[in-house]
Amino acid sequence: MNNRELFLSHVGQTSTAPLALEIIRAYGCRLVDVTEKEYIDLIGGISVCNIGHGHPKVIAAIKQQVDQYMHIMVYGELVQSPQVQYAQMLSSYLPNSLNAVFFTASGSEATEGAMKLSKRYTNRTQIVSFKHSYHGSTQGALSIMGDEYWRNAFRPLLPDILQLRYNSMEDLEQITTRTACVIAETIQAEAGVIVPSKAWLKALRDKCTQTGTLLVLDEIQCGFGRNGSLWAFEQFDIVPDILLLGKALGGGMPLGAFVADKKIMDSLSHNPVLGHINTFGGHPVCCAAGLAAFRVLLEENIVESVNEKERLFIHALSSWMHELPASKKISIRSKGLMIAIEFENFEINKSVIDALIAATDGGLAVFTDWFLFASNCLRIAPPLTISDADILLACDRIKQVISSM
Ligand code: PMP
Repeated sequence: MNNRELFLSHVGQTSTAPLALEIIRAYGCRLVDVTEKEYIDLIGGISVCNIGHGHPKVIAAIKQQVDQYMHIMVYGELVQSPQVQYAQMLSSYLPNSLNAVFFTASGSEATEGAMKLSKRYTNRTQIVSFKHSYHGSTQGALSIMGDEYWRNAFRPLLPDILQLRYNSMEDLEQITTRTACVIAETIQAEAGVIVPSKAWLKALRDKCTQTGTLLVLDEIQCGFGRNGSLWAFEQFDIVPDILLLGKALGGGMPLGAFVADKKIMDSLSHNPVLGHINTFGGHPVCCAAGLAAFRVLLEENIVESVNEKERLFIHALSSWMHELPASKKISIRSKGLMIAIEFENFEINKSVIDALIAATDGGLAVFTDWFLFASNCLRIAPPLTISDADILLACDRIKQVISSM
């Protein structure tokens, strides 16, 4: 059996139609498959590879850490240099009240930790989340997921969850002194790039403050520069009580975190002791990689280039989409390098995605996919380092494919 057949028969599957491409190399904004076919990567590992694939400084940091030590002890007991250096560095680029970083091995675990921390700290039970939100796939995170289709088969889920409409002022009234925390993505990603109004996020912040409810912002997908500022919440002039990080946090290695004020965070250390524990959170190799990637993000001024690249994408696409006949109408939403092209339905979107991946014009294809709660939207969320030339090439391919359908 070849690797593709082994993948299909021996690796746990998440769908009946996986892409099942075998990638053998990745560099910058490119993926290369086993046939040496090259793809412009418009996904970046789903907002993980913000500084591109294979950055030499990240690779060097990983190699250096591997030579020193890998796993030595469960999270939270030993002083591990990459972990403390990274926690300190993150704190110094966050508002003063976000000064204690609890490392996990994934984004979902960060969500779980923040839910537990909120209950423990406030001594309340209700958790509020929003329609079309995605915070992970474990049972707690699934319980607050904002889409019944994906949740229903796994009931019973956590009790005392209230789901409100994202961006609805009216619904904020339902947050009360019973609410332990409200969890929201600063920009909803899997809903197909939904940007809330500044007034709404500010009102949400105020409501949480008035009721003593902790505001948890999930920047697992929209953090680390993806939306044009280092943290998306900066653009809304608010500060969360707990921040969820993941994906790009590990520079390509698995790492998640929830960040809070030490006064809040310390409540996980007593009554009961070891209130939240894990084996691999803050793995030294992952922290070394994440720290190196974070430094690159800052040193190479990558975040500053995001809005200009967004404009290039939008200009290239919108200047042409007006020419499309009514039967092929599309619309575009974006926030930084998180862009959704909306088609009439999933079938059209899927055939565009498949054609982009299959294309071999000049040996270059385009790698993209759809959004979990917006299957009619095509995802454009490349490494933030994508070149202008690749942006234009990718847009040309997208235009060709849509026009020829
Ligand atoms: N929150 C958001 C906004 C996400 O996009 C994701 C992953 N897609 C998660 C949480 C869960 O992260 P992980 O897959 O690392 O558990």
